[in-house]
Amino acid sequence: MNVRIMERNSTINTAGDMFFLGLSATHLFRNWPEMKEEYDAISLHDAYLETFRHTGVPLVKAMPVAVRLRAQGLDPNTPPGTFQMRPLVYKMFVHQVEKLGIKVEFDHQVVEYYENIETGKGGVVTKDGKKHEADLVIAADGVGSKSQVLVGGQVRAVPSGRAMWRAAFPIEHLDKNPEVKEFFSMVDGKHPIVRTFLGPAAYALTLTRPDTMIWIMNHDATGTEMESWNNTIENEEVLTELDKVPGAHKWAPIFQELVKCTPEKTIINFNLLWRDPQPSWTSPGARVVQIGDSAHSFLPASGNGATQAIEDAISLATCLKKGGKNNIEQAVRAHIRFRYIASPPFFTRTACAQKLGFSNAELLQETNWDTVMGRETHLGSGDWD
Ligand SMILES: Cc1cc2nc3c(=O)[nH]c(=O)nc-3n(C[C@H](O)[C@H](O)[C@H](O)COP(=O)(O)OP(=O)(O)OC[C@H]3O[C@@H](n4cnc5c(N)ncnc54)[C@H](O)[C@@H]3O)c2cc1C
Repeated sequence: MNVRIMERNSTINTAGDMFFLGLSATHLFRNWPEMKEEYDAISLHDAYLETFRHTGVPLVKAMPVAVRLRAQGLDPNTPPGTFQMRPLVYKMFVHQVEKLGIKVEFDHQVVEYYENIETGKGGVVTKDGKKHEADLVIAADGVGSKSQVLVGGQVRAVPSGRAMWRAAFPIEHLDKNPEVKEFFSMVDGKHPIVRTFLGPAAYALTLTRPDTMIWIMNHDATGTEMESWNNTIENEEVLTELDKVPGAHKWAPIFQELVKCTPEKTIINFNLLWRDPQPSWTSPGARVVQIGDSAHSFLPASGNGATQAIEDAISLATCLKKGGKNNIEQAVRAHIRFRYIASPPFFTRTACAQKLGFSNAELLQETNWDTVMGRETHLGSGDWD
């Protein structure tokens, strides 16, 4: 098989900090043992979890993720997913592509997709006006894919009214404040820990790793958010907004101090945009197929978009391998059947996951401590049987 990858950037872009990768995708890495080995090497195996109210009052003490899973009646050996460093996972995939001898063609911006049903070819036009054809073109170009014109229906981005502050920086910056350094330290100086803070109109999580401190807070839109990893804002803006938390109870002073320790030009204010499910993921002749965010963008706060993108890639590759070169159209349609329409005629599996991500993010961001005590609220996980 002759595979070409076209990328609009001029080099590998490892922007971003941490993200949550679901087991539904990562357990399939076992089929690529060398890649699995690298994945295991970059994964956190001994992480702890601790939960606070937004005020800093502890809710669930720090304990290993496995212990917390067991306490919930879940299998400690199969956590639903793990927090990963986005640049490391990106590099892992790049290594895999290199191992397979596939060259990434940088500076190749696709401006148009097309297909020729008679010749059974899909194609793209790049910015330099050149045409490139293949038996199958996979549009994996993320949100706002240029393939939407051919595939049918251009979905519009709608503001969700929410945004995320995100910051990742070398752990040495915590030296500026010994109290912050102590509070956000690793467990016993060696176990990475995720701390979550639940509050009204916002929730936050931090990850302390040996070399890096990361914090993320979902909040109501402030007006400076953009859908970009380059949209940095001043630390002062975050501190001012934290003061506006509804109710009498303010954000934990230690969290505010963490914001102050964050180096300038580091905090990103990322806009959380919702895009409706698309009516189709393929061109009429199934010679162009969308995968990942190009097919179905998830609200970033869902923690599921990359997981679904990986599942898409594995599902499509498997169908193509089973179908062979003479059955590309059928293989693509089989993949769509598995991923898009899990139970015919109308139940759209991935669209439900998109919606679930939206509603779970909403639940997480709306903890009212005056009414929540004594009442259990469960995030949805869906019934996928
Ligand atoms: C703030 C934030 C937090 C997130 N957190 C999580 C999380 O915790 N867990 C999770 O599972 N998911 C998360 N996601 C979602 C996840 O990042 C995406 O779902 C995932 O990156 C989608 O992968 P993709 O390959 O489809 O698209 P992308 O990662 O967007 O990759 C598209 C690639 O195509 C290239 N490209 C774009 N246009 C063109 C063109 N015209 N021509 C050529 N190349 C082009 C781009 O440069 C890029 O390299 C988060 C997203 C955001 C924004």
